[in-house]
Amino acid sequence: WHRSKSTHPDVKERTLVAVKPDGVQRRLVGQIIQRFEQRGFKLVGLKMLQVSEDLLSQHYCQLTSKPFYPSLVDYMTSGPVVVMVWEGHNVVQSSRTMVGPTNPAAAPTGTVRGDFSIHVSRNVVHASDSLEGAQREIQLWFQGKDLLNWDCCDQSLTVEE
Ligand code: GDP
Ligand code: MG
Repeated sequence: WHRSKSTHPDVKERTLVAVKPDGVQRRLVGQIIQRFEQRGFKLVGLKMLQVSEDLLSQHYCQLTSKPFYPSLVDYMTSGPVVVMVWEGHNVVQSSRTMVGPTNPAAAPTGTVRGDFSIHVSRNVVHASDSLEGAQREIQLWFQGKDLLNWDCCDQSLTVEE
């Protein structure tokens, strides 16, 4: 059998983006979502939750031995986070560019961190740093059934199909 032009290709690039507790408290959720929507990416999963220390230690498994890890736990568990999965061409790398460098002091204006934050300990947003990282993080935060395959009506206007 074959797929018609309007159905989905089998492999779609996805990444995990999260608005951290400071971003939620500062009511930046809408502005951050808007940036990914206006760029042309497709939202395929979204939820708000209070992160557990266990989930956080899996998410940041490469950082648990860092001296700043205890303060990272305090920060990330200080309130709810909004976690999203975005899909589209080159979304992993583009999201990192949109979010900006880890240290907001080095983040250009126009990036989320460069526009909304000043210090590494309160940098507003997370985005997966690689394809492999994105796959691992998406599986950690979402069940497959909570990620939706849907046709965006302007898809053919954002990428050649
Ligand atoms: P990211 O991928 O750009 O978010 O950066 P990393 O994966 O290296 O670090 C994860 C998160 O840990 C960062 O976004 C910061 O919230 C926090 N972090 C990283 N380095 C430091 C640091 O030196 N001090 C503090 N307080 N937090 C840090
Ligand atoms: Mg990282």
